[in-house]
Amino acid sequence: MKVIVVGSSHGGFETVRGLLAEKPDTEIQWYEKGDFISFLSCGMQLYLEGVVKNVNSVRYATAKGMRAKGVNVFVHQEVTHVDPDKHQVTVHNLDDDSTRTENYDKLVLSAGAVPATIPVPGNDLQNVYAMRGRDWAIKLKAKTVDPDVENVTVIGAGYIGVEAAEVFAKAGKHVTLIDMLPRPLALYLDQEFTDILTETLKAHNIYPASGQAVKEFVGQNGKVTAVKTDQAEYPSDLVIQAAGLKANTDWLKGTLELGKKGLVNVNDHLETNQPDVYAVGDSTEVPFAPTGKKRQIALATNARRQGRVVAKNILGHDMTMPAISGSSALSVFDYHFASTGVKQGTADALGVKSASVFVTDTTQPPFVPETAGNTKVYFKLTYDPSNKRILGAQIMSKRDVTANINAISLAIQGKMTLNDLAYADFFFQPGFDRPWNIMNVAAQKALKNEQ
Ligand code: FAD
Repeated sequence: MKVIVVGSSHGGFETVRGLLAEKPDTEIQWYEKGDFISFLSCGMQLYLEGVVKNVNSVRYATAKGMRAKGVNVFVHQEVTHVDPDKHQVTVHNLDDDSTRTENYDKLVLSAGAVPATIPVPGNDLQNVYAMRGRDWAIKLKAKTVDPDVENVTVIGAGYIGVEAAEVFAKAGKHVTLIDMLPRPLALYLDQEFTDILTETLKAHNIYPASGQAVKEFVGQNGKVTAVKTDQAEYPSDLVIQAAGLKANTDWLKGTLELGKKGLVNVNDHLETNQPDVYAVGDSTEVPFAPTGKKRQIALATNARRQGRVVAKNILGHDMTMPAISGSSALSVFDYHFASTGVKQGTADALGVKSASVFVTDTTQPPFVPETAGNTKVYFKLTYDPSNKRILGAQIMSKRDVTANINAISLAIQGKMTLNDLAYADFFFQPGFDRPWNIMNVAAQKALKNEQ
């Protein structure tokens, strides 16, 4: 059986890995249009801040290593067309500009997404950047030490935008963080959390210009000099666009069934509407456990799970994509937060009826001094008041307690209720936590509210 995998990021990598793990002699052709395989944008902040020194190490796999495992790796070769009837793809070799066709028995597309360009005048000016992939990582790194860059404007205050803002603030730049939404990280955290983080951002030379729409990139001599919003103008030597994604699927129009935002329609086995063609990763939707409906949630975790599911199905198993909760975590200077599922602030848009409880506590019992790590922790639990089912949670502290959110993710997937969580067994050790874990405390408080 010959399998062609398109795209070398998370989804493509996991597909190849899954095939090799179970059937190492599978004939695999793995295509990447860039000149580097398996760069991980997830590791970009660590590289830009100098924690990871070598940009080339921010990856899962090398072409040499994968070839040694028998995979036919093609770098700088773009798959430009799929002919499902002939089970054939067209490949454009970007090195010598030649074109050829290749046959497949199974085809896996993990073509991902690219940062959305903000459709305003001046978006083609120099020094208007994005934050995704190795090429941008190298360009951004140079700007962190460029003395001509004093003012950096980041557009989009989601987790990628906040990562970018933190990188440049730590590099000594003055940063403006623009978003149309009224709060930074509004899709990840409710206001109780973002109020604290907004103050933290300001304290670190990042100005959150929230609730503002970008109208123009102003330039001089071809270079950006300012960003105009509907409310103000911000001097800018560098602009980073981090305001959403565009599925990389234009080349598949007319071949595959595409849904909203150009995402490839896949069934629960991750098959497209064409036989033997699968799609995974940021150019697809995933089943969202709290609602049972599909959503686009662009995370490496989802792409990896999808890649594994596809590998299993190609090898003859019958696996459906498990519903995910959409869990993510981030550090913002001293704070660490994680969230999963539905938030109070996203419930309406998701068409979900919800109620929430917010709990503030200390990470450890009161007798443990701050010098031993005892510090404040904030937790919010969201549930369906009609059946008490757990729908989501958020946690934040200066101590890293983010892993708690994985327990809530599991509770969502397992359709657990407040009653399950209120008395669930979590360990206690004063060096780590309290006899009643904050998740127990929140569920107990919610049950009381619902009496
Ligand atoms: P992509 O990563 O978009 O990659 C697609 C690849 O396919 C690219 O290399 C592209 O060149 C190639 N390609 C596309 N079309 C073709 C073609 N026709 N022929 C050949 N090659 C092609 N997620 C997390 O879970 N945790 C994190 O901490 C996290 N941090 C992130 C930080 C940043 C800055 C960014 C940008 C993203 C982060 N993500 C994180 C999200 C995660 O990176 C994405 O969800 C993931 O990369 C999606 O993988 P993918 O396989 O769908 O495609």
